[in-house]
Amino acid sequence: MLQLLTLSLAACGTETAAHRVAVPGPSSAAPDKAVHAQAPGEAGPGRGGARAEPRAEAEGRAEAAPRLPLTAGRTTVFEHGVRDRADKTVALTFDADMTPGQARRAAGGERFDNPPLVDSLRRLKVPATVFMTGRWAEEYPDQAVLLDRDPLFEVANHSYSHGAFTTPCYGLPPVAPGAMVRDIDRGFAALRRAGVSPVPYFRFPGGCFDERTLRAVTPAKVTAVHWDVVSGDAFAKDADRVAEQVLGQVRPGSVVVMHLTLSAAPATDAAVRRIVPELRNRGYRFVRVSELIAKTPGAVH
Ligand SMILES: [Zn+2]
Repeated sequence: MLQLLTLSLAACGTETAAHRVAVPGPSSAAPDKAVHAQAPGEAGPGRGGARAEPRAEAEGRAEAAPRLPLTAGRTTVFEHGVRDRADKTVALTFDADMTPGQARRAAGGERFDNPPLVDSLRRLKVPATVFMTGRWAEEYPDQAVLLDRDPLFEVANHSYSHGAFTTPCYGLPPVAPGAMVRDIDRGFAALRRAGVSPVPYFRFPGGCFDERTLRAVTPAKVTAVHWDVVSGDAFAKDADRVAEQVLGQVRPGSVVVMHLTLSAAPATDAAVRRIVPELRNRGYRFVRVSELIAKTPGAVH
């Protein structure tokens, strides 16, 4: 199993190995937010729109988010939920990247947010998990808060400024092992300063990690969330191709990685609008990562 974790100089665009948490087992009670994870027609009226919750509610949800216990003393990596064919779930996840270079471009007017994509998710009533860098929250604090307080969504940590936790990693500047926990904490602090109540999940920038990294970040007390479905939306122009790639890979319990950065992933909104109805036709319901983790044997509530 250890060698399986030494993966993924993959990430934003390639397939990875490793199925870390794939154990079939009994489902535990779904969290309250599961009521939003239904197809149109099943959802109750008025649920899961752009309704903003008070901050206290969002904080309560974040605190209640289940985690996975350590694996051999190290941070555990979650890649997908139980493969339950009787309750086919899938989690769309969106990385809100913001490297120092992108922050400079954003300051020049380039868009690394994606309001039309968020609108589509709301209109289609698709629950989702956003892995947000601290810098993204600093750049778009109003949007960060609206995402956090919408009961459809949960916000998790994607580091402070999208550095590399192993190298090489798409040319991202390295974060030294001794600075990794500090970088994750800095990400959480920036999210909280923006008014976000993040769930205790962390996604490695570029999906780049190894055993040593998992040991180094253990004091951050996060569950590392990877994926089993690569959408290939980074820099993609062809939405149909992204949609086909996702639709060809999704299985019950899958976690799909996509991006919430218009300039770096311009086809994502159109791809999502194709993916969502097709997966619902296939009997899937959309959930947040916290629901997949809640149903994973061994999750700590
Ligand atoms: Zn990223």
